[in-house]
Amino acid sequence: MRISDRLKKLKPSATLAVNAKAQELKAQGREVVSLAVGEPDFPTPGHVCEAAQKAIDDGFTRYTPVPGIPDLRAAMAGYYGQFYGVCAKAENTIASNGGKQALYNLLMALINPGDEVLIPAPYWVSYPPMVELADGVAVIVPTTPESGFLVNVRDLEAVCTPRTSVLILNSPSNPTGGHYAQEALDEIARWAKARGIFIISDEVYDRLVYEPAKPSTLSHFWQKHPENVAVVGALSKSFCMTGWRVGWTLAHADLVKACAKIQGQSTSNINSVAQKAAVAALTGPWTLVDEMKTAFVRRRDMALEVIRSWPGVTCPKPDGAFYLFPVVDTYYTPEMPDSAALCTRLLEEAGVALVPGSAFGDDRCVRFSYAVADEVLMSALSKVGKVLLGK
Ligand code: PLP
Repeated sequence: MRISDRLKKLKPSATLAVNAKAQELKAQGREVVSLAVGEPDFPTPGHVCEAAQKAIDDGFTRYTPVPGIPDLRAAMAGYYGQFYGVCAKAENTIASNGGKQALYNLLMALINPGDEVLIPAPYWVSYPPMVELADGVAVIVPTTPESGFLVNVRDLEAVCTPRTSVLILNSPSNPTGGHYAQEALDEIARWAKARGIFIISDEVYDRLVYEPAKPSTLSHFWQKHPENVAVVGALSKSFCMTGWRVGWTLAHADLVKACAKIQGQSTSNINSVAQKAAVAALTGPWTLVDEMKTAFVRRRDMALEVIRSWPGVTCPKPDGAFYLFPVVDTYYTPEMPDSAALCTRLLEEAGVALVPGSAFGDDRCVRFSYAVADEVLMSALSKVGKVLLGK
C-alpha cells in the first residue's frame, strides 16, 4: 500500500494501543479493568443533551461558519470573563473538534520547517507527533518527580536555541496531574516573551484543580500580550463531553483567522448540534464540575495512599486532572525492563490496563487514571499491588 513518508515517521497512539490489547483480552473472556481512560466517568449534564436534542428538532443541521456560530464564539470568549475576569471578544475564539484540533491548528499556523518546539516531559502523547506533522522539531525538556514534574525558567533556558519558536505548556497535566501556580506560569510567560518564544497553553483541564490549589491560566497574560500566547480549552474533560468534540482556541484575531484557514481546508465547522450543546454548557450551571471535583479528590487521595504504600514507589500528589504518575522503575527486571513490559504484565496477570510512561516521555513511570468508580479503582489497585509485591 502506498503510504507517505511523513506518515511512516509518525508513531501510533500508545494509549489507543493499550485499549486495543485490553479489548483483545476481554474478547477472550478475561475480566479486564481499565485505569487507562482519559475521560471522566460522569454523564454529560442533562441540560446540555436537551440543547442538542432541541437543535436536532429545530433542524439546526447545516454547515455553520468555520470558527463557530456567533453565540458559541461569544460564549467561549465569555468563559474567560466569567472565570478569569479576562476581556476577550468573539473574534478571539474559534471552536475546533476538541482541544486536539485546536492544538493541531495552532502548530500548523505557527511553525515553519525546522522550528524547535519545547515540550516539557512528561507530555501529552500527541504533542511530539503534531509538531512533526507540522515539520517542526520537538525538543523534550525533562522534569523530575521532586519538582512535581513541572519545568522552570532554568530548565527551559538550558535547551533554548535561536531556532526555538514555540513552547507548549500543559496545566493541569496529562499524564501527571501537575499544576502550575499562577506566579510560576507568569514567570515562564515573561521569560518566553523576552526570548521571542510563543506559548501554547493547553488548559483543557483548567476546571479540575483541587483546593488548596487554585486554577491558573495564561489568559491574563494573553490579554496583555496577545501576540505571545494562545490558550486552548475544551469541554471534553470539565463537562464530560469527550465524544461531542468541542474545544477552542483563545488567540489574537489574526491567529484565529489563520487557524480558521487551516480548519476551513480540513474539517470546516465543528458539528452544528454540538455547537448548540456547547453554548448550553458554557452559559448554564457548572454544578456538575463541583460534584466531579469532590469525587476526584476523594479518589486521588485513596489511590495515592495505596500507591505510596508500595515499597520503592514515589508519586507526587497532583493538584489537578484525574491521573497519578508514580515512579515504578524499582520493579523493572531484566525480563521486564521498562514501563511497557510492566504494563503488559499487569494487564495479563492482574487484568488491569494502565498506560506505560514511555508513551508520555518518561519510562520510569506508569499512568493511572482515577476517573472510574471508587470500588473499581480500589479493587484494581489491590490487584496491581498483589502482582507488584508478588503476593
Ligand atoms: N490536551 C490534553 C492535555 C489532553 O489530555 C487531551 C485529551 O486527552 C487533549 C488536549 C485533547 O482533548 P479533546 O478530547 O478535547 O480533543
